[in-house]
Amino acid sequence: MPLELSDSARSLLRLRYLRRDEEGRIIETEEELFWRVARAVAAAEDAFPRGPRSAEIAEKFYELMTTLRFLPNTPALINAGTQLGQLFACFVIPVPDSLDGIFGAVRDAAKIQQTGGGTGFSFSHLRPRGDLVRSTRRPSSGAVSFIRIFDVASDVIATESVRGGANMAVLRCDHPDVREFIDAKRNPALFSRFNFSVLVTDDFLRAAIERREIALINPRTGLPFAQANAGELFDAMVDAAWEVGDPGLLFYDRIQRDNAVPALGPLEATNPCGEVPLHPWEACVLGSLNLRAFIVERGDRAFLDEAGLQESARLALRFLDNMVEVSRYPKVEIETICRANRKVGLGIMGFADLLLALRIPYGSDESVAVADRVMGLVQAAAVEASRRLAEERGPFPNFPISRYAARGEPPRRNATVTTVAPTGSISIIAGCSSGIEPLYALAYRHVGEFVGIVEPHPLLLRELSRIGKYDPALLHEIEVTGRIGHRTDLPEELRRLFRVATEISPEEHIRVQAAVQRHVENAVSKTINLPYEATRDDVRRAFLLAHELGCKGVTVYREGAPRGQVLQVLGHC
Ligand code: ADP
Repeated sequence: MPLELSDSARSLLRLRYLRRDEEGRIIETEEELFWRVARAVAAAEDAFPRGPRSAEIAEKFYELMTTLRFLPNTPALINAGTQLGQLFACFVIPVPDSLDGIFGAVRDAAKIQQTGGGTGFSFSHLRPRGDLVRSTRRPSSGAVSFIRIFDVASDVIATESVRGGANMAVLRCDHPDVREFIDAKRNPALFSRFNFSVLVTDDFLRAAIERREIALINPRTGLPFAQANAGELFDAMVDAAWEVGDPGLLFYDRIQRDNAVPALGPLEATNPCGEVPLHPWEACVLGSLNLRAFIVERGDRAFLDEAGLQESARLALRFLDNMVEVSRYPKVEIETICRANRKVGLGIMGFADLLLALRIPYGSDESVAVADRVMGLVQAAAVEASRRLAEERGPFPNFPISRYAARGEPPRRNATVTTVAPTGSISIIAGCSSGIEPLYALAYRHVGEFVGIVEPHPLLLRELSRIGKYDPALLHEIEVTGRIGHRTDLPEELRRLFRVATEISPEEHIRVQAAVQRHVENAVSKTINLPYEATRDDVRRAFLLAHELGCKGVTVYREGAPRGQVLQVLGHC
C-alpha cells in the first residue's frame, strides 16, 4: 500500500527525520525511515524466546505506523536503528545542592538534549538565595540563578542537536525562592528554553484560599527560612501566568496518588511539557494513536472503530515496551531505573478531528463523554497488553514493591502505560489535530524552524459547500481571522462545532482534560487557551477547577502573551 503523507508531513520529515550522510544529503525515503524504525524496535523480540519472531513483528509495526494509526515519539523516529539509538522523549535529572552536582546535571542534560530528549528538573533541593555557602562563607545566589546556567547550556546545545531543546523547571511552593521563581519568566530575555511549574500541595492551596501565612523551608536544613502569605503567593502565580503563560501548576498530592512505586520516593518533577511525572534519573517513552485513522464513515454518519482502536493499542504497547528494551541510554543511572520500572506512555492524538467527524462540539457534555470513553478504551487495552507481556517476558522488576502488587493486581510489564503528549511534531506527520487539543484556529501557520500552513479543515469546507456558503470572500476571512464564531450569518450549529481554542471556555477545556486524566496513569498535556480579554480571575478559577477535577497539572496561555508561540493565525502575523 502506498504511504499517504501530506505535503507538510513530507517537508517536516525531510527537515528533521530522514537520515543524512556526512555531507548532509538525505539518504533514505519515508518508507525506508519507517522500515528502519520498525526493524530496530522489533529486534527486541529476539531477546524473548517465548514470543514471536522479530521479522513478523517488524511487518506489523511498519503497517501500524504507515497507516498512520500510531507513531512513537520523535527521538524514536530519528534515532532508531542509528548510531545514537536513544529513543526516549522524556527525562528527569536530579539537581543536588552542590556545585559539582549542579554542573554534573548540566552536562547530563546536554548529552540527553543532543539526542532529542526533553529534560525536567526539580530545583527544590537547592539552598535558597541568601543561605550560606560554607566553603566561601558567602551567601548563595539561589535556585533561580542556577536555572539560567541550564538555559544557556540548552540554547547552545540546540544548534547541534536533532531538535531545539526543551526543559521543565519545577520548584516546590514552600521553597524560599518561590516568589522569584514565579516571576522569573516575566523577563522575556531569560529562560527561553524552559517551562516553569510550581509544585503545589493541597495544604498550600487551602492556605492560599484562607490567605494564611506559611513557613518557607530551607531544603538544606529542613528548617523554616522565611514566611510568606500563601494567598499572596497564589496571586503572584495567577498574575504571572495571566501575563506570560508561566508558571504552570503541578498538583503534588494528586501526582503522588498515582505514584506506581512510592518506595522510590515522591515524584517531584516532570518532563518539559508536564505529561510525565518521573523519579530522579527516570525516563519514559511515548507513542500516540491517531484517532482520525479510526474514523469510519457510513453514508453521512461517522463513528469510531473501537475494536480497531483497541487492537492497535495492544500492538502499540508492545512497540513501546520494545523501545525500552532496545534503546541506548545516556547514563547507567538512567538505564537502571528505566529497566526497573519500564514506564511507557501510550496516548491519543486527533481527538478534535474525531469530535468534528462525530459532529460533537469540543467542550460539550457529549465531548467529555467521548473523551472518557475513548481514553478508557485505550487504557484498558494498554493494561491488558502489559499484563500479557508480563506473562511472556516477566513483570517490571520493581513490580513486587509497586502499588499494583500491594493492591493484589496481576503482574504487568510496565509501571505506567498511558500518557497524553502534546504530539507537536508527530501529529503533523500523521496529519491530525494535536493530542487532545481543539483546533487552534480554522487556518493557521507553524512558525519557527518548521514553516507550514494549515489549511481550513476539510470538514468545514464540505459543510460550507453543503449550505452554499463556499465563497472566496468567506474563505479569505477564515484565513485572516482563523475563526467563524463572529459570522452570525452562518448556522449556529456550524459555528458551535468549529469553535477554536480561544472560543472554548476554560471550564470546557478543563473538563475535557479531567475526563482524559481519569484514564491516564501518567499525566495529560493540555493548554488552557484564553482569549486576550480573559481576566486574572479567569486564570484563578481555571487553576482551582483543574485541581478540584483531579487534573495533575494545569497550564494556561492567554492570546497575545509574549511567549515563544509556534502557531499563529495568519491575520496576526
Ligand atoms: P513529538 O510530537 O515530537 O513526538 P511532543 O510534542 O509530543 O513530541 O512532546 C513530547 C515530549 O517530547 C515533550 O514533553 C518533551 O519531553 C519532548 N520534546 C518535545 N519537543 C522537544 C524539543 N524541541 N527538544 C527536546 N525535547 C522535546
